[in-house]
Amino acid sequence: MIVDAQGRRFRNLRLSLTAACNYACTYCVPDGKRLQAAALELTASELVRAVRLLIDSAGIEKLRITGGEPLLSPKFEEVLPQVMALGLRDVSITTNGQLLPRKARTVIDSGVRRINVSLDTLDPVRFRAIARSGDLETVLYGIDLMLEAGLKVKVNMVPMRTANVDQVLPMLDYCLDRGIELRYIELMNMGHLKQSASFVRDFFGMEDILALIGSRYEYARTDAAFDSTSVRFEVPGRGVFGIIANESEPFCASCTRLRLSSNGFLYGCLSSSHRHDMKDLLALPDDGARAALQRLLLAALGDKQTLSFAGEVTVMKFIGG
Ligand code: SAM
Repeated sequence: MIVDAQGRRFRNLRLSLTAACNYACTYCVPDGKRLQAAALELTASELVRAVRLLIDSAGIEKLRITGGEPLLSPKFEEVLPQVMALGLRDVSITTNGQLLPRKARTVIDSGVRRINVSLDTLDPVRFRAIARSGDLETVLYGIDLMLEAGLKVKVNMVPMRTANVDQVLPMLDYCLDRGIELRYIELMNMGHLKQSASFVRDFFGMEDILALIGSRYEYARTDAAFDSTSVRFEVPGRGVFGIIANESEPFCASCTRLRLSSNGFLYGCLSSSHRHDMKDLLALPDDGARAALQRLLLAALGDKQTLSFAGEVTVMKFIGG
């Protein structure tokens, strides 16, 4: 297993099924135009083989299927049951939930136990203003279906000062009432937001989020996994919420994440645009592929930041959240 000088190695893989998305969120794409699939995206069988090789060579234990919007990909139905059969400790999905009612059967039948739904507001008008597409009720119905089927649901919200901070408490109420762990994601300094006035204007960090929550609830910090990106808090008797505090409390020092884009590039760090092409080695037999992969993994691990997220022009949608 490849380990760096800080003792970090890859354990968690984010697999982007497609760069295409049915939303065009304000913080993710600059021009309101939805992202399309990348040229030369890997086929379903190439993606599954890539995951298998990464389990063998990098020691991947946990897999999150993401995008773009993974449920939009025609490969979703094919990839999900196959990766479920690879013997990983944990497989989960990150989705904007818009297609969840339509894909609920596939998700439930696959045996996947955990799903994260991205949702920035419970206000239908604001929903359209942020996502620039989609329909709130459909997402909420999708969440209900997952809860009814017994899946563990987390909701991801990006609080932004000029867009949805009035939703910090309503979103927490909604989640606590349903046994959902809400995770506030601090706005990340990436893509078109990098070093921009809108990043500075809209950033709403952990301190501000906690001040708002403290106006209604008592909370106390609670445990998180050693390599968790989330700082977790318990509201006694009600449940747990988290803050992914990439700016306020960076987690680079314990990061174990590796990302594979839908067109076959490995990314060792969200804060680096360095990428390592895995596509060609998928044409090799397993032994040759593993040897070539070791070199890529070493380079990808070297891309990790030492302490904190520096900001990068990489767009999250290309490489998964
Ligand atoms: N389409 C899926 C979804 O919406 O969950 C998966 C991909 S999306 C890029 C993954 C997550 O990244 C979403 O929760 C989204 O809110 C978050 N995200 C994208 N750009 C971000 C940014 N600049 N700062 C913080 N979170 C961001």
